[in-house]
Amino acid sequence: MALLILGMTQCPLCRQAIEAGQETISTTHFIESPDHPLWRYSDAAMHYGCFQTWDQRPLFVAEYNRLFGSRVWGNGTRHPMDDDGTVTTVSVAN
Ligand SMILES: [Zn+2]
Repeated sequence: MALLILGMTQCPLCRQAIEAGQETISTTHFIESPDHPLWRYSDAAMHYGCFQTWDQRPLFVAEYNRLFGSRVWGNGTRHPMDDDGTVTTVSVAN
């Protein structure tokens, strides 16, 4: 998961520091290529409020689920992202 240093880490959406007590969305490193238009939001922490109003949010969630959320882990679970950025754990039926 993204490294978050309160008061230092910058939200890539509003460019403001993320402060203690602010709700955040954190993503794991799921986009390999720096040429991908959403690369800087991979392995990043963002304000929850900024994420909700981000015009790229539907595309970002779709890419997250295509590249990472669809992966089935050894324990038979997937970790897809909901529309609001919340990552959940889903059991995959055998
Ligand atoms: Zn922000």
